[in-house]
Amino acid sequence: MMDIQKIRSQFPILEEKIHGKPLVYFDNGATTQKPLSVINRIENYYTKENANIHRGVHTLSQEATTAYENARNTIQTYIGAQHNHEIIFTKGTTDGINLVANSFGELLKPGDEIIISAMEHHSNIVPWQMLCERKGCKLRIIPMNAKGELELEVFERLLSERTKLVAVTHISNSLGTVNDVEQIIKKSHAVGAKVLIDGAQSIQHIKVDVQALDCDFYVFSGHKLFGPTGIGVLYGKEALLNNMPPYQGGGDMIKEVTLTKTTYNDLPHKFEAGTPNIAGGIGLGTAFEFLNSLNMDDVVAHEQELLNYATQALTKIEGIQFYGEAANKTSVISFLIEGLHPYDVGTLLDKMGIAVRTGHHCTQPVMDQFKIPGTIRASFAIYNTKEEVDIFIKALERIIPILKN
Ligand SMILES: *Cc1c(COP(=O)(O)O)cnc(C)c1O
Repeated sequence: MMDIQKIRSQFPILEEKIHGKPLVYFDNGATTQKPLSVINRIENYYTKENANIHRGVHTLSQEATTAYENARNTIQTYIGAQHNHEIIFTKGTTDGINLVANSFGELLKPGDEIIISAMEHHSNIVPWQMLCERKGCKLRIIPMNAKGELELEVFERLLSERTKLVAVTHISNSLGTVNDVEQIIKKSHAVGAKVLIDGAQSIQHIKVDVQALDCDFYVFSGHKLFGPTGIGVLYGKEALLNNMPPYQGGGDMIKEVTLTKTTYNDLPHKFEAGTPNIAGGIGLGTAFEFLNSLNMDDVVAHEQELLNYATQALTKIEGIQFYGEAANKTSVISFLIEGLHPYDVGTLLDKMGIAVRTGHHCTQPVMDQFKIPGTIRASFAIYNTKEEVDIFIKALERIIPILKN
């Protein structure tokens, strides 16, 4: 089994005090904390290695290029991509989805259909609505049941030869539901549709292998898997990426430019216009090395234990209502307490050093379906402990009578 204290000791922020109380960080769904290895890697880059990458003849530029491209290789190996040029560096999940919506979307025609689900993050809804508006395509929605599970029988009925793309989340950020993406991918491919998986909540919680999944695109953000902000990845199958027009034009994405005509660079550079987030990319590589140091089966077991322990303890609180009770879920607990405003609960928890998120979690349609404005969300990561859950439950027990008065 894993030594959680040893893992915690790698995250300096966990030693911080908030309002004089030890930090209990349960907002991992919004962003995770960073291990010292990632922090040091970024500091070392700016202290000793900083230079612009690609095409440089001088030593620093070549070293920075090697570090950046090594990070790409580390990520390729970790997620099981066939080629390193199938790893496109982006700003994050949102940027990766917008890239696909614009570039793959450019190939769509009026009447073509795109399917998303009722539990998507706004960043996997809005780009598709914008594309449908631009191209005259139709957006169709996989519904969700009261437990927060997708209704896959309805999905099968939505699929047709008009379906060109299915874009669904692997794991819901507001409900914790783990979707059966293997089935969704198989069924979509059977009608010739491509599939994009929003993996923003996945790689930090479960093992992901893009070739085993056979997804066409997989997108995620560095900052949710112990890496820096402002960097993420779009994985895409080589043949698809080669067929897609570029997203943004500029330096690095070109082969040759004249004032009348430009030829485009090969993958991955075709989709990486301009000077990228070099420090971020290198730091993300180090975050993947941190993930490599963990045994993912142990991560899953630890987080499931936290989920079950916290859920059982919360069940005893009077007036509690859970949102998201899927049979297969990760360590996200969304809930409300009868008569209490989530914002007030979040504010008082903060006074006691406990960080949770309150609100709609960028999934307003999910809140609409449950007819609530938002929830209180506790989301755990590998460094969280049962002792922290105990502190959280005690804090809630103190807060409730205060707020009810
Ligand atoms: C956080 C999140 C996003 C958006 O990620 P950004 O890092 O803000 O681009 C998209 N989908 C899911 C499921 C998320 O949790």
